[in-house]
Order: sequence, then structure tokens, then C-alpha cells
Amino acid sequence: MKRVHSLQRFMNSRAAANCRYQPTCYEHAANCYTHALLIVPAFVGMALLHRLSDNGWEKITAWVYGMGLCALFLVSTVFHIVSWKKSHMRAVEHCFHMCDRVVIYFFIAASYTPWLNLRELGPLASHMRWFVWLMAAGGTIYVFNYHEKYKFVELAFYLTMGFFPALVVTSMNNTDGLQELAWGGLIYCLGVLFFKCDGVIPFAHAIWHVFVALAAAVHYYAIWKYLYRSSTANDVRDL
Ligand SMILES: [Zn+2]
Repeated sequence: MKRVHSLQRFMNSRAAANCRYQPTCYEHAANCYTHALLIVPAFVGMALLHRLSDNGWEKITAWVYGMGLCALFLVSTVFHIVSWKKSHMRAVEHCFHMCDRVVIYFFIAASYTPWLNLRELGPLASHMRWFVWLMAAGGTIYVFNYHEKYKFVELAFYLTMGFFPALVVTSMNNTDGLQELAWGGLIYCLGVLFFKCDGVIPFAHAIWHVFVALAAAVHYYAIWKYLYRSSTANDVRDL
């Protein structure tokens, strides 16, 4: 009982329906640091893929993917700082909260981009290259119109955006790295369980951030290993 009580000071009670959970200052700090620490590694990761690129198409792909990665951690950190330190500026906080949500759609599209651009796909599946961005744009329009109104619709949108493009793997001849891709997807899903646990589990949102960071790292590893490093290795072998 005493332990439960000591944990309570790290967490506030659950928010009422259609209200936002108010994190404690400990939770605010954890929310900021968990993503702030990944901003520099994301930029380094982008630069590394850029260096490993053999041609213009790989360079553009590294840039798009890297920008998605950097934007996710950067926007998330800024939003959490604003929501902690500037929550009295309601309009500003609201704007950053919407950006935090929008960037997730673009991050998902960016995460698929290396697989869609650099792997050979079937004629129908190759349309997913532009369709993911259309989905991200659709998600953005949804956020601007219905932000925070239908939370489960929003979650359903994220899951659709997260899994629908994965259908293209059925048209891939080369399946190297798809296991890592699936592991990353699973880690994101486990994280979502915490995303909905504010006020039930202390630091639930920061735990969700850690799952996002882990899944993004697994996906980055797969992209680096199978789409960039191996193509360079093959070229060297061909010479
Ligand atoms: Zn967050």
C-alpha cells in the first residue's frame, strides 16, 4: 500500500472523458528528455545514410527518411516543452499539439519510403510510393478538423497508416530485413498500450516515447543494413 502511495506522487489521476491528462512535473520532464536525447542521433543517422548513398535516388530517399526521423523527435520535444513550461499559452500549446500529431503521419510515410523507393515492387504495389504521402496528407486534414474529438478514430487512423503500406511486402522478391520491419511494428504496437495508460501507469507517455524510439531504431538498423550498407557492399563486390 505504501509503495502504491509513493508511486502516486509521480502521476495524476486519469482525465475525464474528452479532457486531456495533466502530467506531473516528473512526467513532463521524462516526456521531454525521452525524445530530446534522440534529436542528435537522428541527424547523425540521416547523415550516415546520405554518405552511404550510391546515387541521387538513394540520397533523396535518405534525406526524406532522415527528415521524418528528425522531425518526429524535434517536434515531439518542442511540444512537450511547450506543454510543460508554456501551458498557459493555450493557443500555442494547441498548435504544437496538432503538429505533434501531424508529424506522426509524415513520420510513418517517411519510415516506409526507403523500402518503397529502394526495393523492387510489383506494378500495383509501386503506387504505394505516393499513396503513403496522400494518406499522411489525409491524416493532417483530419487533425486540423477533428483534433482530440474522436480519440479512437485517431488511433484507428494511425494503425491503418502504420500497417496498410506493409501490404506491399507481398510483392517483394527480396525479403531481407522484413523480419526486422515486423519487429519494429510489434514494438510500436506494444507502445500504443502505454499511450492509452496516462493516469493508470506512472510515466505512461514517456514509456510510449521509449517504445517509439526503440522501434524507430530497429527500423533504422534494417534500412541501414539491408538497403544502404548491403548495396554499397554489393557494388564493391561487383567492381
Ligand atoms: Zn509525446
